[in-house]
Amino acid sequence: MATTMEVRTVAERLAPGAVPLWVQPEWEARFPWLAQGTTGRGSGGEPFDLGLSGAQPVGRTMDRWRALVAATEMHAAVHARQVHGADIWIHRDAGSPGILVMDGFDGHVTDRRCVLLSVGVADCTPVSVVDPETRVVALVHAGWRGTAAGIVERAINRIVESWQSAPERLWLHCGPSICGACYEVGPEVHAAINPHLAVPTENTPIDVRAAIAERALGMGLPAEQVSVSGHCTRCGEPDFFSHRAGSKARQMGVLGIRDSA
Ligand SMILES: [Zn+2]
Repeated sequence: MATTMEVRTVAERLAPGAVPLWVQPEWEARFPWLAQGTTGRGSGGEPFDLGLSGAQPVGRTMDRWRALVAATEMHAAVHARQVHGADIWIHRDAGSPGILVMDGFDGHVTDRRCVLLSVGVADCTPVSVVDPETRVVALVHAGWRGTAAGIVERAINRIVESWQSAPERLWLHCGPSICGACYEVGPEVHAAINPHLAVPTENTPIDVRAAIAERALGMGLPAEQVSVSGHCTRCGEPDFFSHRAGSKARQMGVLGIRDSA
């Protein structure tokens, strides 16, 4: 089996335009039919906060959502209030125009065009999975709890089982999130994420993205099709919101299939 040592680090780059969207450049070249990336803080005076549970005026927040949907040339966006679980919703229709906010899901799958999947993050990892042959896409919110609960494996299984795909066809990218140096956690988190490793006795940093990549390789994805963001939300430039750095704002990992696909 391939090892995580073979997984590439790829730094998203800020796409031109009014909306701060950081796109995975290799995927942009390889999969031009995808709308993909993670929103950032933006450089204007007002941070590009897309969080729906904070204290931001809802009208301003929804203006930013509409700008995101327009900038990605999508017809609809879907989002869910996340619960750090492993439940995934399959979007099987084209969706009504506008923005749908569901309850209680941490992942989304679709093969419909112009439906922008979204997960809110600020240190947790937005994980994108793509089958280029059937053009099915999955996007999940993977914090340590969701990762331990197997949300990444479930997303891969949903694509494989529902679309007769195969793990060796899939591509996976872990977006901007907290890095392995910044995320100091207790022994219980190490035990939950890396049950096969020795558990430290005191608070120790953990690399959740490496654990996600390892799980993807364990599911049969080829290492050359798995990549990890070069951005840390905590210690990098202040391009992203970081919960651990005290921000209550949220960026969105996004993934959708363009109409011209
Ligand atoms: Zn860091």
